[in-house]
Amino acid sequence: MEVKLLRVTENGVELVANSARVSGIPEGLSDEEVVRMIVENDYSSALEHIVFTFDISGISVAISRELLEHRIASHTARSTRYNRESGFGFVNPAKYLPENVPERAREEFEREFLKAMEDARTHYEKLYGIVKECGLPDSVAKEVSRYVLPMATHTHYVWTVNARSLINFLMLRLCVRAAPEMRELAEKVRKIVVEVYPEIFSKIGCRGYTLGVCPENEARPRNCPYRGKIRTKKEVRNS
Ligand SMILES: Cc1cc2nc3c(=O)[nH]c(=O)nc-3n(C[C@H](O)[C@H](O)[C@H](O)COP(=O)(O)OP(=O)(O)OC[C@H]3O[C@@H](n4cnc5c(N)ncnc54)[C@H](O)[C@@H]3O)c2cc1C
Repeated sequence: MEVKLLRVTENGVELVANSARVSGIPEGLSDEEVVRMIVENDYSSALEHIVFTFDISGISVAISRELLEHRIASHTARSTRYNRESGFGFVNPAKYLPENVPERAREEFEREFLKAMEDARTHYEKLYGIVKECGLPDSVAKEVSRYVLPMATHTHYVWTVNARSLINFLMLRLCVRAAPEMRELAEKVRKIVVEVYPEIFSKIGCRGYTLGVCPENEARPRNCPYRGKIRTKKEVRNS
């Protein structure tokens, strides 16, 4: 998986601070102080003026579907309809198996999975060939053969998202409940945006960390690193 920043709004801290000043905030604060207050107090609409565009490659189709669930963003994905996917690359989910899976089961899982990918590649080519032999155009062959492609197939993505929506994305997808591949993507995105705009993103983590209270309640998993440190919403309400 590779995540590259293609473009980001320049001088965003100044832009956000000046936008917030239009609406009216206490005088005498620096741009950085205004932005930190906006993030800390969740007066977030001014953050929408900062926009990021990422190039994301080597993610699975499965995770790209989850990314698409983030509607407050612009999405462009590689088309399996217009591209020939012979010998497609794929994500190997063996690396996302929990640590307590025994080595033998891990090896068996990986062996079976790789066999399934090889079968899918073979069948993709066979289906493509059958359609082409009928004298039908390439576009039709690609269009119908792609139905055999697995969810693990690599896809390529261009994603444009504003800072406010990105905070929402990170809060949801840095949670230990998120799929491991999605969490890996969120970690890579976070690393980039913290470098570009630390004033906005350095204190952003999962929802529990960011809000100081975890809305997952009973769904909070045992391996949550904030168990015992950050209370759930229900615990706060019932206290
Ligand atoms: C751990 C985890 C498990 C999940 N499991 C499932 C699952 O089993 N099935 C499933 O379908 N999805 C699942 N999701 C996806 C989840 O339901 C959201 O669709 C996804 O996280 C996008 O979040 P969002 O709606 O906040 O983001 P965006 O779509 O970017 O929206 C941002 C915000 O804008 C507002 N908004 C956007 N659209 C509307 C609207 N139409 N009406 C009102 N307000 C709106 C909301 O405040 C929203 O939070 C899961 C997500 C996580 C993190």
